[in-house]
Amino acid sequence: MSLTVVGSIAFDAIKTPFGERDRALGGSAVHFSLAASFFTEVRPVGPVGDDFGDAEYEVLRRHGVVTDDIEHVEGGRTFFWSGEYEWDLNTANTLDTQLNVFGDFEPKLSDASRNCDLLFLANIQPDLQREVREQCGGVQIAALDSMNFWIESTRDALLRTIAGVDMVLMNDAELRMLTEEPNLVKAAAAVRGMGPRIVIAKRGEYGAALFTEDGFFALPAYPLETVRDPTGAGDSFAGGLMGYLDSQGGNADGGTLRRAMTYGSTLASFWVEEFGCERAERLTRDEIVGRSEQCTHMTAIDSVPAT
Ligand code: AMP
Repeated sequence: MSLTVVGSIAFDAIKTPFGERDRALGGSAVHFSLAASFFTEVRPVGPVGDDFGDAEYEVLRRHGVVTDDIEHVEGGRTFFWSGEYEWDLNTANTLDTQLNVFGDFEPKLSDASRNCDLLFLANIQPDLQREVREQCGGVQIAALDSMNFWIESTRDALLRTIAGVDMVLMNDAELRMLTEEPNLVKAAAAVRGMGPRIVIAKRGEYGAALFTEDGFFALPAYPLETVRDPTGAGDSFAGGLMGYLDSQGGNADGGTLRRAMTYGSTLASFWVEEFGCERAERLTRDEIVGRSEQCTHMTAIDSVPAT
């Protein structure tokens, strides 16, 4: 099995009440790939500029991430995002977005990336997401994420891209914004009506909710005492979820999807403990398994007796 992701590869300037970084390795495809690498082989697709050097490639390669489809654009600069969080860490305030090498990016996938079993269209311009989806004709599950920036500026393109995927993973606020529907249950149903059979609403510190034809499943977030930087929480959630599904042969039945949600939530909980993707550096499989077991205990209750 193999997993391909297209998304931003970035340098991030991040400020939270607990500290700041002026040049952290980031981008949706990077956070996703590092999280998924704990479960399967993953191939990020995207451009970088001259400022993306050996040290950055090394972070990915140390985790077994296959970097063959990262395209170096001579003379270009890597995508740059700057964001700030206040005490409510659920909302990022974007200060600056510089597309740089993404401005002229035309995705050209290698055979290995094109022949993937699972595909994740991480947060990036929706026409680029669709071009990649069209190149990967034979995938078992194609999933997509997006954000307010693209909903506001490229809404029609995003709707066309959503129609061609099996799964949508977005923040609850972004699902509401996309569908112009304040009720999350109705918003998820509206997205399922556009084509995808699975919708996952990420709800920050409140967890995540799954909507399928079988019904509804919700998972609380792991209760953390230390949250330093939520950047990458959504992408590491998606990486844990898709990485696990890939390791299960692309099976997406009800039980497997629920376990995948648990792994997604576990990876995101580790991610936010430190800045950017720094926590991935010393994260182990044992830690992931231990915390995901605790997550499953959080959701286990005996049936409620009739009174
Ligand atoms: P999240 O997992 O939602 O916190 O996403 C975090 C990553 O999204 C950061 O590392 C940013 O580099 C990246 N990002 C921010 N804005 C954009 C955008 N407009 N397009 C693509 N990626 C972005």
